[in-house]
Amino acid sequence: MQKLTSPGMTRAVLAQFGIHARKKFGQNFLIDGNIVRGIAEASGITKEDCVLEIGPGIGTMTQVLSEQAGRVICVEIDENLRPVLAQTLEDCENVEVLWQDILRTDLQELAERCSDGKPLKVVANLPYYVTTPILLYLLEKKGLFESITVMVQKEVADRICAGPGSREYGALSLAVQYYSRPDVVLRVPPSCFLPRPAVESAVLHLQAYEKPPVEADEKFLFALIRASFNQRRKTLANGLSHGFLCGNRTLSRAEVETALADMGLSPDIRGEKLSLDQFAALARRLNA
Ligand code: SAM
Repeated sequence: MQKLTSPGMTRAVLAQFGIHARKKFGQNFLIDGNIVRGIAEASGITKEDCVLEIGPGIGTMTQVLSEQAGRVICVEIDENLRPVLAQTLEDCENVEVLWQDILRTDLQELAERCSDGKPLKVVANLPYYVTTPILLYLLEKKGLFESITVMVQKEVADRICAGPGSREYGALSLAVQYYSRPDVVLRVPPSCFLPRPAVESAVLHLQAYEKPPVEADEKFLFALIRASFNQRRKTLANGLSHGFLCGNRTLSRAEVETALADMGLSPDIRGEKLSLDQFAALARRLNA
């Protein structure tokens, strides 16, 4: 099968099967061979690896992954693409396609069945309408994934990589940085896709931690982070005394201010100024 990485080939395959890109599934097909190879390279896959590709589409990246990985498991929601992938992946014997929603896929079972429990590498040009739920769904399954290399909206990549004090920094940055070390490895313009998305894109590489970089009760820490950014413009003491709930536990303004003082922080500090380390230290004090 000829490689799909050109606008002409992609258009020809879509026309052959009467396929139109479906907006509701976030379908923007990659048509730039350099970007497809760049993603595969950034993912560091070898013949030893089992790769999970989310949303193979018409198989453009799958063909490259099939050459470089030991095994490729694809999860695709759009059954209209069945006949397309049957043709474009006909020579790819190490590829299996599961026709289902990734958010309803039992990833534990998939990892055990496909790679004998060895952590998988995830590679995807993600559907933008559901990027954050997919990333969190993967990251929360600690130990199942070694790395996640994905195309996302540039704005989402910037939020994920942001540090304390910046406008982009928030609950998403902290959640992803709790589970992994994020890096932007490529910037990708709309012209690399068919149809062109309205936004700039970026390829993000998340190297999963074997163990989170900070220690704290996870539920408590995430409840603290959520409440801190729910009312971004309030001080931390104000936001947490009104918006924090973990089980039955609420927080008073006085106890938050005391904990902040113990940490040498101002009682007027806002959540957006605290690093992951500081959130974890605050969680340990308040949950003692
Ligand atoms: N990988 C192809 C490429 O790069 O050309 C297609 C990428 S396209 C941006 C996103 C793909 O994800 C589409 O094939 C879409 O049908 C699929 N998709 C959307 N939502 C999904 C879901 N919840 N589970 C699995 N696949 C999904």
